[in-house]
Amino acid sequence: MDVTKVIKQHLEMEQFFSGFSLKGKAGATEPRPSKTGRGEPQQQEDKMADPEKAAELEKIAEEVHQCRKCSLGSLRTNAVPGEGNSNARIMFVGEGPGADEDAQGRPFVGRAGQLLDRVIVAMGLKRSEVFIGNILKCRPPENRDPRADEIISCLPYLQRQIEIIEPEIIVALGAHAARTLLNTTKSIGQLRGQFHEYYAGLGRPPIKLMATYHTAYLLRNYSQENRRRVWEDMKKVLTELGLPIPEHSAG
Ligand code: SF4
Repeated sequence: MDVTKVIKQHLEMEQFFSGFSLKGKAGATEPRPSKTGRGEPQQQEDKMADPEKAAELEKIAEEVHQCRKCSLGSLRTNAVPGEGNSNARIMFVGEGPGADEDAQGRPFVGRAGQLLDRVIVAMGLKRSEVFIGNILKCRPPENRDPRADEIISCLPYLQRQIEIIEPEIIVALGAHAARTLLNTTKSIGQLRGQFHEYYAGLGRPPIKLMATYHTAYLLRNYSQENRRRVWEDMKKVLTELGLPIPEHSAG
């Protein structure tokens, strides 16, 4: 065993998650973009965004806000269309909104969202540079698993968002997102850690997809091993994009 390599990996992993308090309060962390559907745009997002794509995403967000295609539409406080940069190189896709997201109408804003923010920062990126969405745009009651009929009703919104943004890489967070986008029944343990291909439609080149643990799962199972696995997955994403792997990423 290469002890130096093991120590280096451990230090990298610690830096990756340093500063994140498991007992921390839910709430906003910087940087924050506007949501694509509503709210104040930020300068950072504007700089990178493509106005035509942003307008198309806005249209989808408005449709989502009006949507009643499945029963979740009548149970939500707010729909959560997704938010971020219309020219994002990376799209993070989770399963569906939780209580905090339902209350605010924005994706990944609770404790799992804070951890995702740290992951993004650790990668040397800003939240305003990526796009964050979910398979379902409305919260399932009690955060239960998405039902097949709900996924079938809602997935076209995400598919259209992917077609518009044309990310280079999709990061599927958790089993539901990975299985849905890859049309497989494999476990997240089988899927994570390697690139797969997401097919956006006829005539479109496949998009690389990296599956990894959902940050909510990571919070519940906050072991060194799980954190290291997510970090290793994100390093592969950075390498694939030709981006540097930060050495002091999340201090
Ligand atoms: S979950 Fe999706 S399909 Fe169902 S009501 Fe909400 S936006 Fe519409």
